[in-house]
Amino acid sequence: SPPPAVAEDKILISVEVCLKPSSTARTEDVKLAVERMLENRNLSYVDGPIDIPQDDTFLKDNVQRICICDTEERVTNHGILLFWQVKPLVHVFQLSEEGPCEDLDGDSQLSSFSEWMLPAKDFDGMWESLVYESGLKQRLLKYAASALLFTEKGVDPLLVSWNRIILLHGPPGTGKTSLCKALAQKLSIRFSSRYPHSQLVEVNAHSLFSKWFSESGKLVAKLFQKIQEMVEEDNTLVFVLIDEVESLAAARKAALSGSEPSDSIRVVNALLTQMDKLKSSPNVIILTTSNITAAIDIAFVDRADIKAYVGPPTLQARYEILRSCLQELLRTGILSTSQDDDNELILPNYASLKDKLTSATSQGSEYHLKIWNHLIEAAEACEGLSGRSLRKLPFLAHANGECDDLTKFLQTMINTINRERSEIPD
Ligand code: ADP
Repeated sequence: SPPPAVAEDKILISVEVCLKPSSTARTEDVKLAVERMLENRNLSYVDGPIDIPQDDTFLKDNVQRICICDTEERVTNHGILLFWQVKPLVHVFQLSEEGPCEDLDGDSQLSSFSEWMLPAKDFDGMWESLVYESGLKQRLLKYAASALLFTEKGVDPLLVSWNRIILLHGPPGTGKTSLCKALAQKLSIRFSSRYPHSQLVEVNAHSLFSKWFSESGKLVAKLFQKIQEMVEEDNTLVFVLIDEVESLAAARKAALSGSEPSDSIRVVNALLTQMDKLKSSPNVIILTTSNITAAIDIAFVDRADIKAYVGPPTLQARYEILRSCLQELLRTGILSTSQDDDNELILPNYASLKDKLTSATSQGSEYHLKIWNHLIEAAEACEGLSGRSLRKLPFLAHANGECDDLTKFLQTMINTINRERSEIPD
């Protein structure tokens, strides 16, 4: 039997527990029940869902799923985390089923922002679906967690300075907006004991400024009044997502060059002032995205503590994105394999693919080998495509025909990739 670990050696691992929509159980009770269950489980810890024991009727009745998270980075000995090395941190949450509440501007019926209660059903699974080179997601999560902790502990900002602004920049379609939403969702779950309520307000800077500037002024005022009201509730964590912040800089530049009414500069400045004011509230995290990779000249962006470049997916990320797409098509029965006993084919992840390709003899049939080779060929072929284009590929390939069997489908997909690539303007 393993040596008992001393408490301080233990590795903290998050365990997320999603309640059924119908559950009315107290989160504290569920948390205790899950902790008890984990104590009796005595298994290793890897990322992914775990089963609830059949005889645990309380958990069976109330819990939709239990997931272990973030183990991948912590793994020390031979890739396995054993139960006695781990101290689970259990987070219990219930998804809000309300969709976005859009704020329509009276006369024009144009929405200038949308608002979600978090954690929202709309964003469930988004974090897991985003694939980046190792560390990006964890880095963002840790950064935000530290920022919230500093605030929580009342660290004096005059002595140690930090802020709660994150800027993700990079080419369009690389998942920046989705990553911001997914991060907000994660944080709302991880910080639910400190902040029982979380809200996300999404502002599209471009649409805010593509209107008459006189109206923009009103919109900005209304928007921030609303945000201010949320922030005043000190048990609410507020995320403000500002997409395409470069349009603020563009609006200001246009105003300076005289091609826009000088009103616009006042609006941009008003927005920046409001943002600055908001920054001093402890329960706000500002998330911004920009499709411009060069420096953006905006005061508050300069002060963003984390500026992360989000680039086109690497080979490994492309492989994982395509794999998750194909696995979904297999799950839904849109694709099948020509081998009858093979209905539940699990496509290997990138790391185990390498093993499978090198030790083919022990790893099953020639048919499988063909699938793995096609898959990696497809991932190689789509170099330079964005994550957004990748997630559309299987659909386009399906529409292009020949798709009853997985191997044929992969062939069609490779042809589709080559066609897509030739249609991308340089
Ligand atoms: P951006 O804000 O960078 O333009 P979006 O967040 O709108 O990108 O991304 C569009 C969609 O593309 C996402 O919802 C996601 O499905 C897909 N996508 C983009 N990048 C990735 C990635 N790295 N991994 C997985 N999916 C991705």
